[in-house]
Amino acid sequence: MDGYVRPGQPTGIKQEIDRGHYRAELLTPERPGEHVWLALAQFRVSAETLRARESDGGAPFNLDRENLAGIVIGCYVCEQPYSTRIGYRACPGEPDA
Ligand SMILES: [Zn+2]
Repeated sequence: MDGYVRPGQPTGIKQEIDRGHYRAELLTPERPGEHVWLALAQFRVSAETLRARESDGGAPFNLDRENLAGIVIGCYVCEQPYSTRIGYRACPGEPDA
């Protein structure tokens, strides 16, 4: 896996957001057919950092350019990766709908 999302390939963006989002109003389309584009940054974190967070009750992550691995842009609703073509089309809604 190279970290890139190709056109037509689901981004998995919904599963990632559903794990911990806290501003649900930003994930709701304002009108029918509107895509909800999100940019998800991916940071590499070490096992030591994750263990420290668990034992320290929420120690902060170091999230900066040093460990930024990539950014994925996709629609929260239809889970399609952004492209110019898809951006001009109406959002088809949830993939299972
Ligand atoms: Zn969409």
